[in-house]
Amino acid sequence: MHPTDLISFDTLLTPDEIALRTRVRAFVDEAIRPNIADWYERAVFPREIVAPMAKLGLLGLHLTGYGCAGRSAVEYGVAVAELEAGDSGLRTFVSVQGSLAMTAIHKHGSEEQKQEWLPRMAAGEAIGCFGLTEPSAGSDPASMTTFARRDGDDWVIRGAKRWIGLATLAEIAVIWAQTDDGVRGFLIPTSTPGFTATPITPKLSMRASVQCDIGLDHVRVPADAILPHARGLSGPFTCLNEARYGIAWGVLGAARDSYQSALDYSLERLQFGRPIASFQLTQQKLVDMALEIDKGFLLALQLGRLKDAGRLAHEQISVGKLNNTRVAIDVARTARTILGANGVTLDYSPLRHANNLESVRTYEGTDEMHTLILGAKITGLPAFQ
Ligand SMILES: Cc1cc2nc3c(=O)[nH]c(=O)nc-3n(C[C@H](O)[C@H](O)[C@H](O)COP(=O)(O)OP(=O)(O)OC[C@H]3O[C@@H](n4cnc5c(N)ncnc54)[C@H](O)[C@@H]3O)c2cc1C
Repeated sequence: MHPTDLISFDTLLTPDEIALRTRVRAFVDEAIRPNIADWYERAVFPREIVAPMAKLGLLGLHLTGYGCAGRSAVEYGVAVAELEAGDSGLRTFVSVQGSLAMTAIHKHGSEEQKQEWLPRMAAGEAIGCFGLTEPSAGSDPASMTTFARRDGDDWVIRGAKRWIGLATLAEIAVIWAQTDDGVRGFLIPTSTPGFTATPITPKLSMRASVQCDIGLDHVRVPADAILPHARGLSGPFTCLNEARYGIAWGVLGAARDSYQSALDYSLERLQFGRPIASFQLTQQKLVDMALEIDKGFLLALQLGRLKDAGRLAHEQISVGKLNNTRVAIDVARTARTILGANGVTLDYSPLRHANNLESVRTYEGTDEMHTLILGAKITGLPAFQ
């Protein structure tokens, strides 16, 4: 029995799943842990880790063909949990690139669009972003006002997007816009005249990643820039479901890392002549954290097995995203209390994780949205409006 696995969770995983987890964990230990405090303090996204991540197959890990690794949903889950043990901002990079931008092209794109973009994105040679949220349209994306108008053979797009991950680094933007035919998706090279991206700063969360305001000032793209197979909001929602599923696993990595950090500290830190781990109140915190993390992993695995069997309902993704993000933020905050004052420095991970998790509980559907999704499912009575 290991302190981070009280229930022999590993017996539920296959050798391939464990092997992938081991590889990603080693990458995080080597490439992320020694540097993350510096990146976070300086608020930089480390572009240099994109190539090694691509080499590990992490970009579009769960997608098949076009240079993608074609791994299972559970393998995707165990990998992103390890990444997020390093930092949520770096897991967010993989989510935006793979689960949002690449999935939009993979699921909704033409064969030409897939051939053009997916191999380069899987190789980390091209970065993508996914623009759904707007300054006045967050939880209610149906209220978006960005509009794409037909002009001869072209589309002309006007509007604004906000909080768009990676937009200043991206070569290609997936932009969702109203049209005379409902919401449609467009692939817009970020070098197109009229497209601008401006980082949102300063941030107190996700400092080792980039989110941007996007301006779309009469951006003109050819007819074949439209994603042909996405119609209406189900287009972006199918991508969001992929990312939300990944979050149900990822956040547990941040929780496990916080718990481990607090456990290690509590065994070494002496007060009143004894390790603080010897006090009953500390043990209560450690045990509660360990139980919630173990239960969270069981939930994530059940969702992953359902997904791999093609039987995962979107409401079940809400169960995982809501519960596990809530667990992770509680664990990170509790872990911070065990670290005392030292816990407010960047020498220890829990407060950094907790700050990141504030974003995670807001993006990909806030806690409230997932509660309303489940409330509607349980009662049959939607309470969104
Ligand atoms: C770090 C980060 C990265 C992001 N990356 C991306 C990205 O790459 N692409 C992208 O498109 N977007 C991205 N987002 C945006 C994110 O998806 C939105 O922030 C999210 O959907 C919430 O929208 P909002 O912030 O406008 O909040 P609002 O929708 O204004 O909500 C504010 C509060 O009101 C509550 N609320 C709203 N409606 C209801 C209701 N009916 N009942 C009860 N409560 C309600 C919400 O739950 C929330 O607590 C990112 C955000 C962050 C912080």
